[in-house]
Amino acid sequence: MASRYRILAVYSLLLAIVAGVWLGFGLAATRDFPSPWVAAAAVGVCLLVWQFGVPVPRVGLSSMERLPQIALLLVFSAPVAAALCGAAAFLWPLLSRRYSLGSPRAAVLRAVHNGAMDTLMILLASAAYLALGGRHPLGVPTLADLAPLVAMALTAQAVNVLLLATWFRLDNRDVRRIIRPVYSFIDLLFVPAGVLAAVLYDTAEPVVFALFAGLMIVFVLSFNGLAGRLAAGNSRASPLDDLGDRILAETRVLLRFEEFCLVLVDHEQHTLDLRLQEVRGVRLPARVKPADSGLFGWVIDERKPLLIEEWARAPSRLRERAEPDDAAAGSLIVAPLLDAGRVAGLLCVRHSRPGTYSDADLHLVQGLAVQFAPEIVAARASFDQERLIAALGVRSRAFEREAQEDPLTGIPNRRAFSRRLAAEIELARVSARPLVLAVADLDRFKGINDALGHLVGDEVLRRSAALMREHVPETGLAARIGGEEFAMVFPGVEYPDALALCERLRRAIEGHDWQALHRDLGVTVSIGVAAWNGTAGADELVHAADTCLYRAKHAGRNRVA
Ligand code: GH3
Ligand code: MG
Ligand code: MG
Repeated sequence: MASRYRILAVYSLLLAIVAGVWLGFGLAATRDFPSPWVAAAAVGVCLLVWQFGVPVPRVGLSSMERLPQIALLLVFSAPVAAALCGAAAFLWPLLSRRYSLGSPRAAVLRAVHNGAMDTLMILLASAAYLALGGRHPLGVPTLADLAPLVAMALTAQAVNVLLLATWFRLDNRDVRRIIRPVYSFIDLLFVPAGVLAAVLYDTAEPVVFALFAGLMIVFVLSFNGLAGRLAAGNSRASPLDDLGDRILAETRVLLRFEEFCLVLVDHEQHTLDLRLQEVRGVRLPARVKPADSGLFGWVIDERKPLLIEEWARAPSRLRERAEPDDAAAGSLIVAPLLDAGRVAGLLCVRHSRPGTYSDADLHLVQGLAVQFAPEIVAARASFDQERLIAALGVRSRAFEREAQEDPLTGIPNRRAFSRRLAAEIELARVSARPLVLAVADLDRFKGINDALGHLVGDEVLRRSAALMREHVPETGLAARIGGEEFAMVFPGVEYPDALALCERLRRAIEGHDWQALHRDLGVTVSIGVAAWNGTAGADELVHAADTCLYRAKHAGRNRVA
């Protein structure tokens, strides 16, 4: 492992020596040094843009750095611009939590590399600019300045991408997964703003330049806010998944890995929720496993991070605990996301090559864990709350349904019927639609119960209810409103048609194969049918239908009246 750091350190030092020598000779020949205030402001603006510039989608690095860099290059001589940009680039990894994440060694390494890279980038971009006849100072640009300016921007871009790719390659990371086309070109968007800044600095009144600089700062800050809002607005799933994506992107910038895993620990259920798992670039579906399983279980018990530099040399207590997945990794890191001393989640990276990870990498992952733990805990609380609300919603809808449903027959109950009838009367009143109500009562049902038992009686009720539902149109309602009493609402149906439907129902009940239920069984029904008269309330209409039912019973039952 030390060897990877040694390779990166040697490479960075070589780069720094080349950049330093070139810069040194350049500065020795320079006369136009800016005042300390201007120099500090220039470095400050570079840092501001790195902190607040628009993040490149999925990569997370700022893309606005060309604005100050190009401006400085056009305003000052190349060595001065390179020194200012190089100083800012050197300071940035030391100041930024994203790079310094608890590992001074990693931060210094990145600082040296970053400083050297930006210094060389500015020097080479300037060389391209001057080679194509670029003017210094630029003054007011003309069409002839276009070619040198484009050459300068493209050179800066090419050097930047090339050196970064080299760094990632030496770090054994998948360059194509980090440096994508969007990442390679997005910096160019801010070149014109850099040129404008230089033109104003050279040609306009200081106050005009100050206004422009102020405007740019507001622009950068609001762009940063906008980017955050866009990220929040685009969130497809939960804030938790978005957060997982961000952690994955940050980890990709910092470390190489074949597998990345973000795990949430559910202490109540004793489970691990593998929220985000990416194996060799492939995203696996979220899954749940027991909390005590494998090395994850060890980290949860011990509440401390785990670094296995080489699996073959791991202590036997860990090897015994390992699952096949763990053992397949040559090298791995698991860091706990701590919430008030409890392990709320885990971050894990694995690589099949033994010796991939060292202490410095452990620091980086731990740094990420410390940085993201509060956000994970908060996002998870809201996630759990949403889940709870959804579950309660399902339950309350079930309660609502139960409150409207007759448990024996599954058709609507008296309560549902009353509400529906009142609503249909209102609708009939405003729409002048016909409305018919029928009340049905099974004949001599008590006798059925007494002779054949309640269980048979219940089944008779269920089958009768089913037949009623079949005979009422889709737009209507069949409900059980009492022991063996049913009501049927026929909205928009004329009285004679409703009578005919009820007659068909009566025959269907009479003709049903009741003997299949019990050989002595026969069932008939009496039905009273009343049309709404245009003025009656619900009680009146029910009473009218009841009167008809009474007549049907008295006329000998098994009839519609
Ligand atoms: P009629 O032709 O005059 O309507 O006579 P009937 O026997 O149907 O009328 P009555 O109202 O006297 O009897 C209704 C019976 O319905 C009484 C009760 O035992 C029975 N019953 C009410 N609810 C249920 C139930 O949920 N299951 C069963 N099996 N029987 C019920
Ligand atoms: Mg009855
Ligand atoms: Mg009855």
